Amino acid sequence: MTYIAVPIAVKDYDSAAGQIRLAKELAADMVELRTDYSPSPVSRQIRELIALGHSVGLAVITTCRSSREGGLCSLPDKLRVDILCSAAADGADYIDCEYETFIQEDNGKKITDAIKNSHCRLILSAHNFAGPFENIADLYSKINSCCECIVKIAYKARHINDCFAAFDLQRRQNRQSIILCMGDDGLISRLLSPKFNAFLTFAGIDKSSGTAPGQPSIGDLNNIYHFRSINEHTELYGVIGEPVAHSMSPAVHNAAFAGAELNKLYLPLLVRGDRQGFYDFMDNILARPWLSFRGFSVTIPHKGHAIEYVIHKGEYVEDLTAKIGAANTLIIGANGRISAYNTDYSGAIDALLAAMGCGKSDLHQRKVAVFGAGGVSRAIVAALTDAACNVTIYNRTIEKAAMLAEEFLCRYAPIDKLAKDTPEIIINCTSVGMTPDIDRSPVPAGVIRANMTVFDTVYNPVETLLLRQAKAAGAKIVSGLDMFVNQAAEQYKLFTGRPADVELMRKMTAQLTI
Ligand code: NAP
Repeated sequence: MTYIAVPIAVKDYDSAAGQIRLAKELAADMVELRTDYSPSPVSRQIRELIALGHSVGLAVITTCRSSREGGLCSLPDKLRVDILCSAAADGADYIDCEYETFIQEDNGKKITDAIKNSHCRLILSAHNFAGPFENIADLYSKINSCCECIVKIAYKARHINDCFAAFDLQRRQNRQSIILCMGDDGLISRLLSPKFNAFLTFAGIDKSSGTAPGQPSIGDLNNIYHFRSINEHTELYGVIGEPVAHSMSPAVHNAAFAGAELNKLYLPLLVRGDRQGFYDFMDNILARPWLSFRGFSVTIPHKGHAIEYVIHKGEYVEDLTAKIGAANTLIIGANGRISAYNTDYSGAIDALLAAMGCGKSDLHQRKVAVFGAGGVSRAIVAALTDAACNVTIYNRTIEKAAMLAEEFLCRYAPIDKLAKDTPEIIINCTSVGMTPDIDRSPVPAGVIRANMTVFDTVYNPVETLLLRQAKAAGAKIVSGLDMFVNQAAEQYKLFTGRPADVELMRKMTAQLTI
């Protein structure tokens, strides 16, 4: 079992005691008393907090992190070691000392003597807030061979690709340890700790209360990631993009997996940068079949990279996806083969047809204005031209509109021509109107008529300014959320081979967008 430990910044007794009680209410297993948050930690106070932790049923780790390793304590090492020794005598279940402190002078002896006759166990730790350690395997064996202890290594991930060294190390260990990557780029190392039977992972009481960068909240661990159900057999999925922190996909897919009692976990995968960052990430995944990654949703800016990668590997790209030229879904088979799909196409057209109450053949020759010429536009223009719509593309960068129009044999025009073109359907495929840009609409005022259908692919917010304008004009509206649920349900089918519980997905998205 991997414990959930909530770090408590011990600034004063009352606030620390309040946080301990909250940690218990939120179903933590342990608290870590960060006594370095107090300018002069008081032994009596620490003893009382340890006793409080025990009285509510929580195990207690005590630490007094040095400023050299990201803590706030600038007391001499001797005093910090004394604080840890007293905590051991006062009933702490674990004390955490930096390896570098432990090996100085007689610190190690004092600590081992202090825990010898107690039930307290030692965590020996190393932290690097600047980036990965040069040789993490070497560091691990140095700490491990130093005495009987739980090894903790935490380093800053500068890119998600820095997490793989932590996974490689954890996989080789036959004893419990704590190997964590800090920062937003290291989040998956925290979420996946039960997959490696790690000793613990840290989680904040809420999103803002963590004591190290990148700590998830305990609520997210339990409610979004179903942390207690993760084990070594859990199959992994995730959304690759930048940014991904606010993506609804993890909550929606994990709810669907849990609803069907599948041992699957869906992660936010922040893959920064360009094509090379994406290619390196995929190479890392494919080189480690034991991680059991089985599929991905792909979003901005990697939809083009995703299809290029699969082609570069000589693997399967579904015909429709090849025609669109962008993939929003990747599947990795049990044999390690990778394939590319696009579910935006069907997600969008199904949402449009449902709102219009008609079939695909009824779209024949309908005049459609598509705003945008990026990844989503490609999928939607492909779907509309397949349905023989009369499509005109409008885009800020007119050259991109021209290129897309040439590819799909449709028209393009500058935005000021829109009023004269009198479309029957307007579709926004740009990010205009998306949070925080909520007071903007890509469509000039006065163009929308009651007999039109207006579809905004933006779903954050659900009711964009464009949709409000359309409603006011009496037009039919289609929200980005309808498309989102449709494309997620299609992905679920590709991930699991089963139909999705669409109602559950819809309910989940509705909750998330309140
Ligand atoms: P993309 O490939 O980056 O394309 C972005 C498009 O938006 C481009 O046409 C770009 O024009 C235009 N644009 C961006 N900022 C603009 C601005 N300030 N003014 C005018 N035009 C602007 O992105 P994408 O993958 O196509 O995604 C676009 C949007 O679709 C997203 O923002 C998201 O809200 C929505 N989406 C919805 C779903 C769903 O399921 N509902 C799924 C995916 C995406 P230029 O060519 O001039 O740069």
